[in-house]
Amino acid sequence: MYSDRINSLPPYLFATIDAAKAKMLAKGVDVIDLGVGDPDQPTPAHIVESMCDAVRDPKTHRYPSYTGMISFREAAAKWCKETKGIDIDAASETLIMIGSKEGVAHIPLAFVNPGDVVLIPDPGYPVYKIGTQFAGGIPYIMPLLEENNFLPDLDAIPKDILVKAKLMFLNYPNNPTGATADLKFFEKVVEFARENDIVVVHDNAYCEMVYDEYQAPSFLEVDGAMDVGFELYSLSKTYNMTGWRIAFAVGNKDMINAVGKVKSNIDSGAFDAIQRAGITALTSSQQCVADMNDIYTQRRDALLKGLKSIGIDVKPPKATFYVWVHVPEGYDSMGFSKLLLEEAGIVATPGVGFGDYGEGYIRFALTQSVERINEAVGRMEKLKI
Ligand SMILES: *Cc1c(COP(=O)(O)O)cnc(C)c1O
Repeated sequence: MYSDRINSLPPYLFATIDAAKAKMLAKGVDVIDLGVGDPDQPTPAHIVESMCDAVRDPKTHRYPSYTGMISFREAAAKWCKETKGIDIDAASETLIMIGSKEGVAHIPLAFVNPGDVVLIPDPGYPVYKIGTQFAGGIPYIMPLLEENNFLPDLDAIPKDILVKAKLMFLNYPNNPTGATADLKFFEKVVEFARENDIVVVHDNAYCEMVYDEYQAPSFLEVDGAMDVGFELYSLSKTYNMTGWRIAFAVGNKDMINAVGKVKSNIDSGAFDAIQRAGITALTSSQQCVADMNDIYTQRRDALLKGLKSIGIDVKPPKATFYVWVHVPEGYDSMGFSKLLLEEAGIVATPGVGFGDYGEGYIRFALTQSVERINEAVGRMEKLKI
């Protein structure tokens, strides 16, 4: 009865973990969830207030525009200028998305014919690969190796792949490794994309979730980047708005227009009230972002200190709310996450869920208080690994 594309899907990892977690909760275990990357803090009050006003206005109740309200897109372009220093034309170089996951899933439909190759980072956000396969594309895995600072080795991609490659996904600051990329790397990407005629999609979901003076660049800062690709920005992680579903794309206008064509045949845009709240998020004081980053910094430091005390030494990530850790000797990533859940009541995500090159690692998300993180570390200590 079902399509090949459904039948060939692996089980969605987070659903599997949710089921295992539910089993532990049913047993009465006090589970500490450091698994899924979903901010635990509420959406800042001024954004919620703005939504309440907007939803009371009947003008927001009708079908939205496909591309997004021009006022939202102007706010997005201004935000890009202020935070990244890039010049974006709101009318032609921006497009609203119903969360960047929706964008990622539909983007291959605009560029990929059946049999075309898409370059996918591994470990990586699973939707890059699934979206590619749904469009009939063939994923080519770019391993992100620790010895390369979790950047793909573009020179290692074989010629016969490059001939067939249409699209490349990148994501820095990176989920799940927490790695960052500098402008020198992006310059290389632009040159590579131009030489091989590849569209670059840079998923910048974590660009504002940064520590200690680090500032995450935009791919579009590089000369020529606007010719070869576009970038995705999400309000989800930056403003604790994962449930609201709002993100936007900026960059090459023809590419963005192509994605818009796909989307206008699938969805009917993002709720105008949410867009108005999005404008508030993007144009108000960014103090709420700095405050969240202070909280994540304390949590990161608590987790790193705790891990160190049990013999796991980790380099502090400069960005994202993830800590990417080698599993101890004698375990694979599934085995170790199972041990943590069953013996310590801790949910962490097995690296292999992000691809084969995630094997040997586990991902902790900093989505619990310092107290709960310390409690988790105490429980790990008792495991005597
Ligand atoms: C969380 C996440 C997203 C999803 O963002 P939404 O805008 O909520 O869909 C996209 N990309 C990466 C890498 C993520 O980790």
